[in-house]
Amino acid sequence: MEATQKAGFKAGLAAAAEAVVAAKDVLTKADQAIGDGDHGLGMARGFRAFAEALAKQDGGDAAASLQAGGRALMMSSGGASGAIFGTIFQAAGKALPPGDLPEPAALAAAFATGLQAVRDRGKAKAGDKTMIDAAEPAIAALAAGPQDLALALTAMARAARSGMEATRDMVATTGKARALGERSLGHPDPGAMTFTLWCEALAARMG
Ligand code: ADP
Ligand code: MG
Repeated sequence: MEATQKAGFKAGLAAAAEAVVAAKDVLTKADQAIGDGDHGLGMARGFRAFAEALAKQDGGDAAASLQAGGRALMMSSGGASGAIFGTIFQAAGKALPPGDLPEPAALAAAFATGLQAVRDRGKAKAGDKTMIDAAEPAIAALAAGPQDLALALTAMARAARSGMEATRDMVATTGKARALGERSLGHPDPGAMTFTLWCEALAARMG
C-alpha cells in the first residue's frame, strides 16, 4: 500500500503545537468548569515554546524534536499540566530511536514509556479523570493500528477523542478538580481535551 503520510513528522509536531495554542479559549473554559481556569493559558504558553524550539532545531529528527519541544514546554508552562505534558514528550523523545519519520510501533512504544513517566511522576491512573484517560487508549490504538503512520495517527486521534469523551462520566480523584467531587461529572477533563486536540492536529497534518 502506498504511504498516505504527506508531511514530515517535525512539521506535524509544529502543526499540533499550533493547534493547542489556537485552542486556548476552549481549554480555558474547560478548566473554568472543573478547575481554576489556567489550563488554556499554560498550554498556550507551553506549546508556543514547543513550536519555537522546533523552529530553532536543525534537521528533522523526531526523537530530538519531541525532547526539545517537551523541555521547552516544561520550562515555560506552569501548573500540573506543564510538568505532565513536558514529561510525556521528553520521555517519549528519549525512548524513540533516531530518524525523521518514526514507525507507528516505535512511536507507540516511545509514548508508552512517556505515559509511564507521567504515571510515576503524577501518581494518577486510568479513571482518575486526567489526560491519562485520553493518552492511554490513544497510545494503545497507535500500537494496534496500521503500519502506515498517517492512518495509525488517525486511529490514535479517534481513540483519544473517545477517551476524552469518557472522562465526562468520571469523578475527578486527582488535581484541582478533585475538590469538586461529583460536580466534576458531565465535564470533560481539560488535559484530556488538550491531548486529543494535539493528536487530531498531528493526524490531520500527517494525512
Ligand atoms: P493545574 O491543575 O495546576 O491548574 P492545569 O489546569 O494546567 O494545571 O492542568 C490540569 C490538567 O492536568 C488536568 O485536566 C489533568 O488532565 C492534568 N493533570 C493534573 N494532575 C495530573 C496527574 N497527576 N497526572 C496526569 N495528569 C494530570
Ligand atoms: Mg488549572
